[in-house]
Amino acid sequence: MTEINIGKAIRQRIEMDDFFVENFSIKGGVEIPDMPDFASDSSCAVELKGLDEIAARIGKCKKCELSQSRVNTVPGEGSPNTDLVFVAEAPGADEDEQGRPFVGKSGQLLTKMIGAIGLKREQVFICNTVKCRPPENRDPKKSEKDSCNEYLVEQLKVIRPRIIVAFGAHAVKTLLKKNVPIGEIRGEFQEYIPAEGCEPIKLMPTYHPAYLLRNYSVENRKRVWEDMKKVMAELNL
Ligand code: URA
Ligand code: SF4
Repeated sequence: MTEINIGKAIRQRIEMDDFFVENFSIKGGVEIPDMPDFASDSSCAVELKGLDEIAARIGKCKKCELSQSRVNTVPGEGSPNTDLVFVAEAPGADEDEQGRPFVGKSGQLLTKMIGAIGLKREQVFICNTVKCRPPENRDPKKSEKDSCNEYLVEQLKVIRPRIIVAFGAHAVKTLLKKNVPIGEIRGEFQEYIPAEGCEPIKLMPTYHPAYLLRNYSVENRKRVWEDMKKVMAELNL
């Protein structure tokens, strides 16, 4: 029989209630923490070096026209040796300004969601399929996604996560190369193969936090929570 960890169950219940606050008033506001200095943790030194090197190349990249309008590149951030990576489509205005992923309103909700599954932002990795902001938040073009794909693939090869949570139809389409409505596919684990010969990674498609904010119904929050519970079960959280 599975043992129930009462303390853990209570903590998750509290986090979930927090995530479920009506009308998305983020209780007391959510601080987006600075990232810790991973270099001081020798257990992830090799991965960190790999990610830093990729981020440095992204910082100088001019492979597509998004390089002309961006303020900052947004390579992604978080733990270099995590089991869990969140991938969305492209940075928005706040992210472009700060060079960090998910630091605006959606970022506050994501930070809450990560708390609800019992983790902190610095224990996961957060990034986008495209590393520069498309002007006016337009959808990235296929050519831009194709140009940028190698960076995400390299990041995933370095991190080797067990699970990717893909946010929204655009990210799912880019990663899985299939065009399915998010409502049809969400909540069902898919397989993502970063490149030929790589081990498949389990991919959980779910609603994008920005979509959730625009459609903040109890039903939608329950759906996302159900998806996160599947991720937690897979990671034994
Ligand atoms: N929305 C995204 O898709 N990505 C971010 O980094 C922030 C908001
Ligand atoms: Fe390079 Fe990607 Fe930025 Fe295009 S979006 S310039 S490919 S980093």
